[in-house]
Amino acid sequence: MKVPHIKIKPPGPNAQALIARDHKFTAPAYKRVYPLAVKEGRGMAIEDVDGNLFLDFMAGIAVAATGHSHPKVVQAIEEQARKFLHICGGDFYYEPMAELAEKLGKLAPGPSEKKIFLTNSGTEAVEAALKLARYHTKRQHIVAFFGSFHGRTLGSLSLTASRAAYRAHFGPLIPGVHHIPYGYCHRCPYNLTYGSCGIQCVTHLEDVVFRHEVTPEEVAAIVVEPIQGEGGYVVPPPEYLGMLREICDRHGILLVMDEVQSGFGRTGKMFACEHWGVEPDILCAAKGIASGLPLGAMIAKSAVSTWPAGTHGTTFGGNPVACAAALATIELIENGLMRNAAEVGGYLKEKLTQLKTSHPSISDVRGLGLMLGVELARADGTPDGQSRDRIVMTCFEKGLLLLGCGESTIRFAPPLIVTKSEVDVAVEIFRSALD
Ligand code: PLP
Repeated sequence: MKVPHIKIKPPGPNAQALIARDHKFTAPAYKRVYPLAVKEGRGMAIEDVDGNLFLDFMAGIAVAATGHSHPKVVQAIEEQARKFLHICGGDFYYEPMAELAEKLGKLAPGPSEKKIFLTNSGTEAVEAALKLARYHTKRQHIVAFFGSFHGRTLGSLSLTASRAAYRAHFGPLIPGVHHIPYGYCHRCPYNLTYGSCGIQCVTHLEDVVFRHEVTPEEVAAIVVEPIQGEGGYVVPPPEYLGMLREICDRHGILLVMDEVQSGFGRTGKMFACEHWGVEPDILCAAKGIASGLPLGAMIAKSAVSTWPAGTHGTTFGGNPVACAAALATIELIENGLMRNAAEVGGYLKEKLTQLKTSHPSISDVRGLGLMLGVELARADGTPDGQSRDRIVMTCFEKGLLLLGCGESTIRFAPPLIVTKSEVDVAVEIFRSALD
């Protein structure tokens, strides 16, 4: 059947019943974006419990890299599940974990040898990075960025600064975290223009923070997303990561890149930092790594991974079934999906950029590969979050799954299997919602 196909305006009766049941017993902290109640997923399509078919351009927040229930990933999961489900990778040995660690070490950007710590999630990969950075440097302070999202456990939450609501009433958070503005040229935090700005979003660190607030010798790490995800799919200026790398090198600070959202082929390269040729000391990954099974990885240079046995551990991290799913996922990404992300992502970006010429409410189209953001603004240039939310909801009702990010941006982050004809369908629905 053609996708999307809306039989009954969502949420239909079955979805309404499921939602009512869910709300009775699940924590009120969950913030559901729209009333999507899923029965099945296949490739680019999601079927809801009322038989509506949706075209998925959000991939469960950039996770379903290979599409929903890819047969090769399902087969790998089934085969491993029949062997054993758990033995505790922190304490014992098994092949899928050793094989995945070897694979990640080879895939990770840069020439240095790597060591891998496997986790269950993105936030745990960031926690591991924070702990290792402090342990290795014997320093305590961390630099992070406004607009960043690194997770919701207390360590990573102390770095997260995309919305104050994520932090409100959870303090005190970990001390020694210093936030500075990110390289967001479309809404430059210094009201400067790229080309004549001197990249003040980086120079601020030495000119202000290291001069007035903390000496660089006390800073363990700079933690940065090479492209901000939750903060609005913001691509920094070309010099940005290289300049951060240079500051880190000069002061013995570790450069930690959070590639939880941007990694695993999404931007058309295995990791986004490869677009700028900058090697991090520690890289955090999760989301797309295992097509939806819970898995994360902290990939550190061997020279940095100096923590001895017993300093860190996990019961479930590196679960064998999740490792098998990751190995199948990576094989698919390497053998075509990464290329597809670059090619179809370029096509999608072109189409969205064309829309900008006929729709003045679009103030910016940006991103790399299939990590694309469309920012909306009012006539006076201020971010238009209300219209963004209405458009995301209208697209949902028309059968297209999108998600917002930042103040007024819509993210396009489909599974990496997406085709150009599916892009045509999605852009047409998006255009009609904008109209
Ligand atoms: N880091 C980034 C860049 C993310 O986008 C996210 C989640 O959206 C996280 C960390 C946290 O990952 P998780 O939700 O798996 O804990």
